Amino acid sequence: MRVLVTGGSGYVGSHAVRELVAAGHEVIIYDNLSTGNRKLSDGFELIEGDIADGEKLAPALDRVDAVMHFAACAYVGESVANPRKYFKNNVESALKLMDAVLKSKVRKFIFSSTNSIYGIPQVLPITEDSPKDPINPYGATKLFFEHVLQAYSASHGLRYAALRYFNAAGAHASGLIGEVHDPETHLIPLVFKAVLGKIPPLKVFGHDLPTPDGTCIRDYIHVSDLGEAHVKALEYLANGGESVSLNLGTGKGTSVKEIMDSFERLTGIPVPHELAPPRAGDPPALFANATKAKEVLGWTAKRDLDEILTSAWKWQQRLEAANYQL
Ligand code: UDP
Repeated sequence: MRVLVTGGSGYVGSHAVRELVAAGHEVIIYDNLSTGNRKLSDGFELIEGDIADGEKLAPALDRVDAVMHFAACAYVGESVANPRKYFKNNVESALKLMDAVLKSKVRKFIFSSTNSIYGIPQVLPITEDSPKDPINPYGATKLFFEHVLQAYSASHGLRYAALRYFNAAGAHASGLIGEVHDPETHLIPLVFKAVLGKIPPLKVFGHDLPTPDGTCIRDYIHVSDLGEAHVKALEYLANGGESVSLNLGTGKGTSVKEIMDSFERLTGIPVPHELAPPRAGDPPALFANATKAKEVLGWTAKRDLDEILTSAWKWQQRLEAANYQL
């Protein structure tokens, strides 16, 4: 199949693009490069455009069988400080993308959703049916768009897969692409930056939480496993599968302390850190029940935490050697 990948120059999108091609599909990347990086699209057709630009989208949509939509603003903290940016990009512009899709013949749509739609769960692990009560504008915009897909699916014959990622982490096995965020707020790259002396010691947000070692628990999933799930979701829809929403996680929680300990075990380098109060709005523990994705797509995460840390560390060292210029 040929797929239009919005946000294909971003972190998760660029990995999904590689998995699509590895599975024999063709890709057209559509990205405005506002947060994406041109280098992550090297070797692929890239249309530079905004998802709100229906005129630019129309000829591209005429050439594809499906859309994967990654293009979005994705910083929780920024969404709290600047919610207008989030509602504008992730809702208003995304609605324009949907208008362009519905004007085209494309009826298969794969959406990057997030565990942030669940807010603070009352029960763990989180299933797809857990209450959806986002605690930040980022999660609210993603949940809103899931409702859009649900409605358009009922009224316009669209079929979609909303893929709710837990904590995307790791880098491509080639060492050629990986996570580059500016500013960086995610734990694993910050562990590396602390080790490399680029930032002061890592602040461990929360240390006397109601978790086994007192630090926060998350479900870290390798970005290439996410990419593979997107390919399976595409093939599921192509085979006539009904619209579906799925958690993409490993089902296993890992604490901040376990991340630091694993890094030290793998590299021999201790992580400079200091204990700090919990970050506002951070639930103590989040992890997925990942069984529905296995039942529906036949997909499970193949890569473990060691592979996440090793691949991401390789990528970080490449960035460091290149002085953070891709
Ligand atoms: N975290 C931390 N120190 C940091 C950044 C993150 O202790 O400098 C913790 C954070 O509280 C959370 C986990 O690491 O429990 C993962 O945070 P991240 O921002 O990577 O992802 P989130 O789960 O917030 O989407």
